[in-house]
Amino acid sequence: MPIPKQMRAMVIEMPGTPLVLRQMPLRKPEPEQVLIRVHACGVCRTDLHILDGELPEPKLPLVPGHEVVGTVLEIGERVEGFSAGDRVGVPWLGWTCGSCLYCRKGQENLCEHAQFTGYTIDGGYAEYALAHQKYCFRLPSGYPDTEAAPLLCAGLIGYRSYRMAGESARRLGIFGFGAAAHIIAQVAAYQGRNVYAFTKPGDVEAQQFARRLGAVWAGDSTATPPDELDAAIIFAPVGALIPAALRVTAKGGTVVCGGIHMSDVPSFPYRLLWEERVVRSVANLTRSDGEELLAVAPKVPVRTEVRRYPLEQANVALNDLRAGKLQGAAVLVVDPHAS
Ligand SMILES: [Zn+2]
Ligand SMILES: [Zn+2]
Repeated sequence: MPIPKQMRAMVIEMPGTPLVLRQMPLRKPEPEQVLIRVHACGVCRTDLHILDGELPEPKLPLVPGHEVVGTVLEIGERVEGFSAGDRVGVPWLGWTCGSCLYCRKGQENLCEHAQFTGYTIDGGYAEYALAHQKYCFRLPSGYPDTEAAPLLCAGLIGYRSYRMAGESARRLGIFGFGAAAHIIAQVAAYQGRNVYAFTKPGDVEAQQFARRLGAVWAGDSTATPPDELDAAIIFAPVGALIPAALRVTAKGGTVVCGGIHMSDVPSFPYRLLWEERVVRSVANLTRSDGEELLAVAPKVPVRTEVRRYPLEQANVALNDLRAGKLQGAAVLVVDPHAS
């Protein structure tokens, strides 16, 4: 099939204004890039933060989207790991330098010169995307395109947050039961942990959803669970959840903030942090986080629940996410033949 010269994309031209449908030129892959026919692309809360101008200096105009699933159409001259026809997934981490202090320490997620898909480089809200060969993943075959997409950020960054909660955390709280939580709750239950799900006060639907996915308890974020937590992960972008999570976390426990942006954290009494409780954030992902999650997901097996939207409806999907109308993850179906 000949490769077209133009593609349709949903583009952020200016933060604070809705995405617009544009025709964009299709570029040839650089020597280490693959050109991907996008089948599906997940919609992530980070896309909302970019759209709302809460993250500094995005590329503009920008094609957002960093949960990209598609097939390789063409490869650059130095690409070795992939060939045309391979199914690949492209995550948030788009490129790292390999030589800065952080890359040399194995913390490529903190690379000084990192590029991020759908933020500093164009992403997957488009019919085609370019990605560096070293930052593409092979995807487990049991997942259709739309169901694989949420694994690539909700799954990967969720999994990194889960790892940071610590191996010994048997009683694990999850605050905010959206796309990341619905994946991680399944992994945690599979690994024999007790999951306590905290939702927006009164969100009975999300609480039922959490129980269905294996949570032993689900309730309001203001409620006190029946047991103290060994660790908690906060996925909701709400700073006030940090003291709320500390309040129900046992001595020596960890509160992990899994999002890229949060509202301000209110002041709280030191006794909530006292007794060696730890608050930490998680930034981005490393490729090994990705490999681990993609290896464990089919064993669980993690099932992702998705609501599908056509590419042109990206603004609707983002608005539904903002309004908390989703159970699981929103996914743009870019190619009508996507699985
Ligand atoms: Zn680096
Ligand atoms: Zn994301």
